[in-house]
Amino acid sequence: MNIRTSERIELVDITQEVKSEIHKSGIDNGICVVSTSHTTTAIILNENETGLRHDILDFLEKLIPPLAGYQHDRIDNNADAHLKAIILGSSETIPVTGGELVLGTWQRIFFVELDGPRQRTVNIAKIKKVQS
Ligand code: ZN
Repeated sequence: MNIRTSERIELVDITQEVKSEIHKSGIDNGICVVSTSHTTTAIILNENETGLRHDILDFLEKLIPPLAGYQHDRIDNNADAHLKAIILGSSETIPVTGGELVLGTWQRIFFVELDGPRQRTVNIAKIKKVQS
C-alpha cells in the first residue's frame, strides 16, 4: 500500500485500508502483520483523538529533538527520525478472528511519518491459521 505523507512528522490512520485488505483476502482466522520497510517511519496502535495525536507528536519531539548534535546529522540531517523510528517500532501484529481484525474499541492502526513529506510504502501480510 502506498502513502503520500504531507508533513515532516505525522500520524496517518490506515485502519480502514488494512481492514479492507483483510476482507479482500477472505482470511477467517489468522494474523495480520502491518510493517514498514523504511528506517524513518513506524507503525503503532493507539487512539485516534485529535488532542492525543498532537500529544504523541509533541512527546516524540521533546523526547528526541531534531538536530540535537547527533553524528548521523553530519550526512543526513534526520538522525532524530531514525531514533524515533527505533523507539516506536517498525511493525504491529494484529489477530484476525471471524474475518475481522481484533482491535479494541479505541484502537486504530497508524503509519507514523518521521521524516516527510515523502512517498511511502506499508506492507500488509495476511497469514491464515493452519487448522490442527
Ligand atoms: Zn538518515
